[in-house]
This record gives sequence, C-alpha cells and structure tokens, in this order.
Amino acid sequence: MTADFRHFYQKTWAERTDIVAQQAHLTPAEQALFKQYYLEQHHEIIENYLTDYPLPMGLAVNFVVDGVNRIIPMVTEEPSVIAAASNGAKIVKRAGGFTTTLNQREMIGQIVLEHLADPEQTATIIEQHAAALLDVADAAHPSLKKRGGGARSLRTRVLGQGYLSIDLFVDVQAAMGANMLNSMLEAVAKSIGVMTKTDALMSILSNYATASLVKAECDIPVGLLQAGRYSGELVAQKMASASTVAQLDPYRATTHNKGIMNGIDALAIASGNDWRALESGAHAYAAKDGQYRGMSKWTTDGTTLHGELELPLPVGIVGGSIKINELAQLNQRLLGIQTAGDLERIMIAVGLAQNLAALRALVTTGIQQGHMHLQLKSLAMAAGATAAELPKILQQLELAPQQDLATTQRLIADMRQIKEETDD
Ligand code: NDP
Repeated sequence: MTADFRHFYQKTWAERTDIVAQQAHLTPAEQALFKQYYLEQHHEIIENYLTDYPLPMGLAVNFVVDGVNRIIPMVTEEPSVIAAASNGAKIVKRAGGFTTTLNQREMIGQIVLEHLADPEQTATIIEQHAAALLDVADAAHPSLKKRGGGARSLRTRVLGQGYLSIDLFVDVQAAMGANMLNSMLEAVAKSIGVMTKTDALMSILSNYATASLVKAECDIPVGLLQAGRYSGELVAQKMASASTVAQLDPYRATTHNKGIMNGIDALAIASGNDWRALESGAHAYAAKDGQYRGMSKWTTDGTTLHGELELPLPVGIVGGSIKINELAQLNQRLLGIQTAGDLERIMIAVGLAQNLAALRALVTTGIQQGHMHLQLKSLAMAAGATAAELPKILQQLELAPQQDLATTQRLIADMRQIKEETDD
C-alpha cells in the first residue's frame, strides 16, 4: 500500500515519521533512528524534517598559514582526507608554511533583462544611473552599510540574443551574502524596470564569485619531498608533470580538483558554509579560459617546488545556518578566526595541502598504499568488527586475496569461532 503524502509538510513530526515508516515498511528499530538523531531546532532549517544525518568531524593539524599555526576542523565521511591534509601541511610547515593573498571580497549578483531591441543602449542608460541604483541597493539592506559594507559598483554585460546582465558588486562583510544580495538585487531590478520599462527575467547572486578570489602559495625545498626510494628532486619533477597533465586533460583535471575540494568541502561543512556554492564557483573558475583545467599549479626549478592555488571562496562566519549551528561556531573558535577573510585564507591553504599530499602519493607509492589501510578499516567496521577485533582483522584483510565484505565477514566469523573454542 502506498502511504498518503498529501500535505506532508503540514504534518507533525510524529505523523510524518509514521507515514514514512508505513511507505517503506520500516521495522521499529529502523524507525527509532529518526528519534535517535532528531534535533528539534532543525525543523526550522529545512522542510519536511525527519532527522539529522551525522557525519564524522575530525581535526587536521600541522597547518601554518601566513605565519600562524592553525588547527582545522573537517567534516567528511571519506577516510584519508584528514590524514592527507595533515601530511601535506606538515611538509609545508617545514618549508615555512603557506602564504595567502586576498585582494578583494565582494559578491556579485545579476539582474538579467531579456527581449531587448538594443541592449547596448539599455546598458548605457543603466550605467548613467549607476550611482542612484547603488543607493537603491543599499536602501534594501541598510544594516550592511552601517557595518561598513554595501553596494560598491555596477557593470553591464551584453550577452547576445537580446539579453543583458547587470552585475551588482556588494561588500557583504562577514556573511556569504546570498540572501542579502538577492534582496538588494530585487530592489534594483524594480528601479531598472521603471527606468527601462522592462521587467527583469531574473535577479539572483552569481556563484561565479570572481570578486572573491583567494590564493595560497608554498615553496618547498625539494629535499622535503623525498619518499621511499624517490629522491626529493624526482618527486618534485613528477609532481610538476602531474600538474601539467591536469592542465592539459579534463579527465585528469576533474580528479585532481576533486582531491582539492575534498579538503575545502570538509572545512566548508565544518564551518557551516554552503559547499554547493563553493563547488560550483570553483569548477567554473577551473574552466575560466574555456577548457576545464587543474585548479592548482606546481612547478620546480630543481631546488624548490612551487605550488599555487587560486579559487573564488566566498564564505561567511555569520548568516545562513551558522547562527543556529553550535558546532559551526565551536569550529570558528578552533580555527581561531576573526573574519570571513581569515576563513578563506585557511580554506585555500587546506585545498593546496590536500593536493600536495595526493600528488606526492600518486607519483610515488600510489594512492592506494595510504588509502587502503583506512578503506579496510571502514570495510571491517561495515562487516561488524568490534574495536577490539579491528587490529587482527586488518592484519588478516591486508593479506587476504579478496578484500570484500563477504571475505571480511568470514574472517570475523572465523576469528570469533577460534576465540570461543580457546575460551572454552
Ligand atoms: P543571511 O540571510 O543569514 O544574512 C546574513 C545575516 O548575518 C544578516 O541577518 C545580518 O544581519 C547578519 N550579520 C551579523 N553580523 C554581520 C556582519 N558583520 N556582516 C554581515 N552580516 C552580518 O545569510 P547570507 O545572506 O550570507 O546568505 C547565505 C545563505 O544563503 C546560505 O545559507 C546559502 O546556502 C543561502 N543561499 C545560497 C544561494 C546560492 O549560493 N546561490 C542562493 C540563495 C540562498 P542584518 O540583517 O542585521 O544585516
């Protein structure tokens, strides 16, 4: 029988979970999970709330960013991410740490007009009234100006086929600014409507945050990169080659960049930021010249390996769900940050550290050596191994010809059988 989901959003939490249980034929134990992870205040964050979905939070260490020691809370379900970030940061720490550059921190929003017979002429009219339109924007969110932020500039871009984009640049201070900017854009769109007698097609922030770029760099003496039988010089050369391949080939670039975003997303989640916004902006920036490329670049002169990573990372330390997320606030304390810019600088360094560790492993021992131990641990836990059983099971799994769930379950069963017999 299909449960009745009509007016689901108007139901109480108990009614909702009953309907879901009926639909999916949940056992009482399964249904109890809704209660186990339930947080009352989260009804206010999303619609049709059922329960929370916990993710592990850990700490990456060894970071020195602009001369300051930092610890980095990271939320991720993927083994190895935190180990790799800490490992990359340790190498850079020995080389003096990361340096970062942040020149501008403004969000861009768009008002798009359509069906224009002469978009250039409309653009000219709008630009002539730019100062008045900036005032309209500020009046739509006056508290921002009081805090020292507000609308900064306006530009127009003729998109072709009768479309015109009016881009509003706003200093959003400590927030990410999406909602604030959207309110300002809608007010400006109304004024533009009166001015040009054209209704806007849409008014919305752009996640292509090219006015919020932040860059991390590091210079590592090649000796610090030595790995097993690979000399530091060879590792540096191979890492530079790997970087070149990511510039040339979108197949490689995509995975190269996924590794960078492993760290950036984990910190974005830990700090209560919208990681989808960062993901879309970062990947768009990786394709800024028309081809999708690696986000970072590594070069070597034989003595030093130079790494750099520049991305749009418009994050906030207020606003969104941060104000009701106690852990996001706690994590700001762990990070020791005072401004949104501090968070951006740390976040870009995390991306570069992650990439350094991944590339160094890839061009030397391969990624699996480091990963496998952690992957096997996840496998053993999924197969039901207890904490006490883990070390032995991991030893056996590492030698097993097949490292899959069935094998792991068999190994655990065998081990328990032997233990029972010995205990008897
Ligand atoms: P909010 O709507 O929460 O606005 C920021 C809030 O922070 C305001 O209430 C502001 O107060 C307050 N604030 C306190 N101190 C400061 C300060 N120093 N500087 C700036 N603001 C301060 O959040 P955002 O506008 O930042 O929007 C972020 C949210 O928008 C995220 O949750 C995101 O997921 C979502 N979003 C994202 C979109 C996208 O990426 N495309 C689209 C739509 C939403 P006051 O009101 O007094 O100024």
